Amino acid sequence: MPTGTLFTVSAPSGAGKTSLVKALVDSDSQVTVSVSHTTRPMRPGEQDGVNYHFVDRARFEQMLDEDAFLEHARVFDNYYGTSRHWVRETLAAGRDVILEIDWQGAAQVRRLLPDTVSIFILPPSQEALRERLTGRGQDERSVIERRMEQAIDEMSHYVEADYLVINDDFDTALVELCAVVTAQRQSLERQQQRHRDLLQALLRHP
Ligand code: GDP
Ligand code: ADP
Ligand code: 5GP
Repeated sequence: MPTGTLFTVSAPSGAGKTSLVKALVDSDSQVTVSVSHTTRPMRPGEQDGVNYHFVDRARFEQMLDEDAFLEHARVFDNYYGTSRHWVRETLAAGRDVILEIDWQGAAQVRRLLPDTVSIFILPPSQEALRERLTGRGQDERSVIERRMEQAIDEMSHYVEADYLVINDDFDTALVELCAVVTAQRQSLERQQQRHRDLLQALLRHP
């Protein structure tokens, strides 16, 4: 069985990465999204184990000592990390895995696993980004201002990605995101792993 492909999806907070990745995962049973560990407080409506594994600082540091994270980073004064074990097992089972992580995490993962495919999502304007952060209605005003300030810094890292999606019209952006995942699945290397017997049979002289 071929191993799955590892994707990172990065974007400034509010660009729509969580909504797009959820829609992608809902429409494609081969793709699954990693649930990160974080020390950030839970937002209204979030569920432990679904949106994140919510842990305190002591537990996070214990996991760091145990080398439990494939990557980790500090974002907006909170720590975020990706479970090394879960990613390895899921890829080995042949499923594609998406990591919704910041640019620092994406860079760490690319260094560690050079086959990783990185995708960046940008909003259509700074105004739209602010409206989405405000419209989501889940962060305090001071947190939104902080996230806006950090957004330009995060956005400047788009040049490090393999693919860029502009999330203006949601459905268009979703089609574009799905296209990247599908194209990757059809790459020669993956198809050779998947269809080894067929490819051998096709080239056999009678
Ligand atoms: P949101 O992106 O606005 O919904 O806010 P979050 O608090 O969910 O995420 C804040 C930032 O942390 C985003 O840039 C995420 O990409 C990043 N992030 C989330 N999980 C991880 C992770 O496991 N590792 C790393 N490095 N970054 C993460
Ligand atoms: P992120 O995970 O990048 O912080 P979210 O997926 O939480 O972003 O999206 C932020 C807000 O913007 C949400 O309220 C979401 O419904 C909204 N949103 C996402 N994409 C679009 C879009 N293309 N047009 C308008 N609103 C959008
Ligand atoms: P600060 O006081 O700057 O908020 O953080 C200091 C503590 O954070 C230290 O005890 C250390 O264990 C932890 N720490 C420092 N750098 C990092 C990092 O890059 N990632 C994580 N997860 N923890 C860190």
